[in-house]
Amino acid sequence: MPRPLINEDECTGCGICIDSCPNGVLELIDDIAKVANEDDCDGCATCMEDCAMEAILEIEED
Ligand code: SF4
Ligand code: SF4
Repeated sequence: MPRPLINEDECTGCGICIDSCPNGVLELIDDIAKVANEDDCDGCATCMEDCAMEAILEIEED
């Protein structure tokens, strides 16, 4: 299954990726983006494209 790899040191907690993910995969926890619903990720990479901090490094695949 795909899942975004988040560089938590670069994440500012802006929440853009949470809003841009069409599948509700991401949540802000303690002001850091986390993968909360991994099984729902379809690998579309919208979150990565929308992060201005480039804090989403890649979409990993198993
Ligand atoms: S868009 Fe980037 S900086 Fe903003 S919450 Fe998501 S990962 Fe963090
Ligand atoms: S790759 Fe697509 S489905 Fe997966 S977390 Fe990012 S925006 Fe959501």
